[in-house]
Amino acid sequence: MNAKALVCALLSVLISSAAERLEVVICNTDHVPESVLASAELNAGEIFRDIGVDVLWSSCTRWNASPSAERLFILRIRSHTKPASRSGVLGMTYFSSGAPPVYADVYFDNVENLVSAYDVGPAQVAGYAIAHELGHLLLGPTHTGYGVMKAVWSGRDLRIMGHHGLTFDKAQRASIRRQLQVGVRGSP
Ligand SMILES: [Zn+2]
Repeated sequence: MNAKALVCALLSVLISSAAERLEVVICNTDHVPESVLASAELNAGEIFRDIGVDVLWSSCTRWNASPSAERLFILRIRSHTKPASRSGVLGMTYFSSGAPPVYADVYFDNVENLVSAYDVGPAQVAGYAIAHELGHLLLGPTHTGYGVMKAVWSGRDLRIMGHHGLTFDKAQRASIRRQLQVGVRGSP
């Protein structure tokens, strides 16, 4: 291998191992405590960092669109569940035909209801709820029977959350990174 080929090979390794970036605007429309929300963002960020994705958070009130804004999602933090939503639901992602999804909600009343029944903090569960809805924005409406994208978390899942043990699986990780590499809105 000549010197030029070696440089290209090294660059290719560096590029393939670099973290993808996901930009999320958080709209705390119902004034959920900022300290809990900040911890939830940290927890959600950690779940994505485990799969090689850096999440850049900004708020509706301090929103600076960046050059990579085509990868940007908007997440509303609501204090109360939408009346039309089924009981106990922690969040909702809004899908519409013909356009990639951008908006999702997380419902803090149901997060707190769930937390009160188990020995886990609201920021931990809220972080997973945020990661789950961002997962829908990237992966579509499908659920899996385990992990971050499970439809309903059990008491055992909540205990695992306490140890940061729920994750995206290998296929989800590959799909999320592929979506972010091509640009979410530019993908088919
Ligand atoms: Zn879901």
